[in-house]
Amino acid sequence: MPDHGSWYQATARGRRTWPRLAGRVAADVCVVGGGYTGLSAALHLAERGYAVVLLEAEHVGWGAAGRNGGQVGSGQRRDEAELTASFGLALARRLWALGEEGKAIVRERVARHAIDCDLKPGQLIVAARAADTAALRARPGRLARDFGYDAMRYVPAAELGAMLGSKVFHGGLLDTGALHLHPLNYALGLARACDTAGVRIFEGSAALGCSASDPATVRTAAGEVSARHVVLGCDGYLGRLEPRIAAHLMPINNFIVATAPLGATRARTLIRDDVCAHDTRFVVNYFRLSADHRLLFGGGENYRRGFPADIGAFVRPHLLRVFPQLADVPLEYAWGGALGISRTRLPHLGRLAPNLFFAQGYSGHGISIASLAGRLIAEAVAGQAERFDVLATLPAPRWPGGTLLRWPLLVLGMLYYSLRDRL
Ligand SMILES: Cc1cc2nc3c(=O)[nH]c(=O)nc-3n(C[C@H](O)[C@H](O)[C@H](O)COP(=O)(O)OP(=O)(O)OC[C@H]3O[C@@H](n4cnc5c(N)ncnc54)[C@H](O)[C@@H]3O)c2cc1C
Repeated sequence: MPDHGSWYQATARGRRTWPRLAGRVAADVCVVGGGYTGLSAALHLAERGYAVVLLEAEHVGWGAAGRNGGQVGSGQRRDEAELTASFGLALARRLWALGEEGKAIVRERVARHAIDCDLKPGQLIVAARAADTAALRARPGRLARDFGYDAMRYVPAAELGAMLGSKVFHGGLLDTGALHLHPLNYALGLARACDTAGVRIFEGSAALGCSASDPATVRTAAGEVSARHVVLGCDGYLGRLEPRIAAHLMPINNFIVATAPLGATRARTLIRDDVCAHDTRFVVNYFRLSADHRLLFGGGENYRRGFPADIGAFVRPHLLRVFPQLADVPLEYAWGGALGISRTRLPHLGRLAPNLFFAQGYSGHGISIASLAGRLIAEAVAGQAERFDVLATLPAPRWPGGTLLRWPLLVLGMLYYSLRDRL
C-alpha cells in the first residue's frame, strides 16, 4: 500500500527501518502490529523480561498511530455520565481512572524516553449546537465531585470567542489535563524505546495466520515466529487476519488536512492558547496548530472502502465552515486513515485462547487507551489479569450483519447521524 503523504510523515523525527522477517525465530511473545497497542505491549513486556518479537505489515506507525489527530483526551471515549448510566458509579470510576492512567502513560513514556513529539497540554471540547451546552456545563462539577478530576471548566461563548477565531461554537469545556502531540513521532519514539529494551522488530512482515497451539506459530510470507503468547494489535487494519474479532469492529476512514504555514501571529488568531479542540458533532471536527504554525484540521468520514480521490476538497468545506477566514490559504497536505470503532465506543480487549490476546476498537480515543491496553496486556501475560479483565469483561456486541453486512448497515446508520449533524 502506498504511504499517505501526511504532514506527520514530512516531519517525522528519527525514523529508522527494521528488517523483514526471514526464517524461523522463537520468542516468549509475538506482538502483531506496530501501532500504539503493539508498541506499548511490546515495551511493557520487554521491561518485564520477556523476549518479544514485533511484526509490522508495513512500517512502524504506518496505521492510525501515524495519521491521527494527536488529541489525547481525558478518561474514556464515552463520558462519565454515559459510563455511570451504563455501568453504575463504581465501574464508571474505575473506567475513568484507567483512562487517566492511559494519559499518564503517554506523559511518562514521552519523558522517560525523551520522545520529541511536541507534547502540549490543553483541549477544548466545543458545542456545535446550543443544545449541546447543557451537557458540557454539567461535566466539570460532576467530574470534580464523583471522579476527583478538577482540570475541566466550562467556557461561556463570549470567552470562547476570544480563545478561538471561530464564530460557530456556542460554548465549550477547557480541559487543561488533556494533551496533544505529534502522533507519528510518539509512535516512532516508542519503537526506538522497544528496540533499546530488546524487542526484535520486523517491518514489511505481515502476519498471515496464527496456529491455535501452545506455543503458537505466527506465519509471515518469508518466516514464522514460535511464541508462548501472541498479542494482536491491528485495530482498523485487522483485515481478514482474525474473523472472530473483526465483526466487533467497524473500520472507518477519517481525514485530516494541513494548511500552508500561517506564521505564529495568524495561527494564534485561530487558537490563542495552542490547545487542541474538537466539537460535539457525531462526525467530529477536530483541529489544532502544528509546531510550524499550520492549522491541522480533521473532518469528514466516508463509509466506502477507499478514500475520496481529492481528500483536500473533501475536508475543505468542513474547515471553512469553522474558519471561513482561511479561504485564501492553500492546503499543503491531506491524508486519511482507518480507525476501529466498537459499537459501545469502549475498547474491546480479550483473549481468543489462553495465550492469544487482542485489543482494538478505541473509537477515536486510542492514543491513551491503546497505550494503556499495552500495559494491561503485559500484566495479563504475566498472570496478573485483574485490570485487563475490567476491560475484557465490558460488553462488546458484534456489529449487526457481521463482517459481510456490517458495512451497508453502518452506511445507513451513519448517513442518518451525519444528516442529523447538518440539521
Ligand atoms: C484520521 C484519524 C484521526 C484520529 N484522531 C485521534 C485522536 O485525535 N486522538 C486519539 O486518541 N485517537 C485518534 N484516532 C485513533 C487512533 O489513531 C487509534 O485508536 C490508534 O492508532 C490505535 O492504535 P493501534 O496500535 O491499535 O492501531 P494502529 O495504530 O492502526 O496500528 C495497527 C498496525 O497494525 C498493522 N497490521 C495490521 N495487520 C497486520 C498484520 N496482519 N501483520 C502485521 N501488522 C499488521 C498495521 O500496518 C498498523 O501499523 C484517529 C484515527 C484516525 C485514522
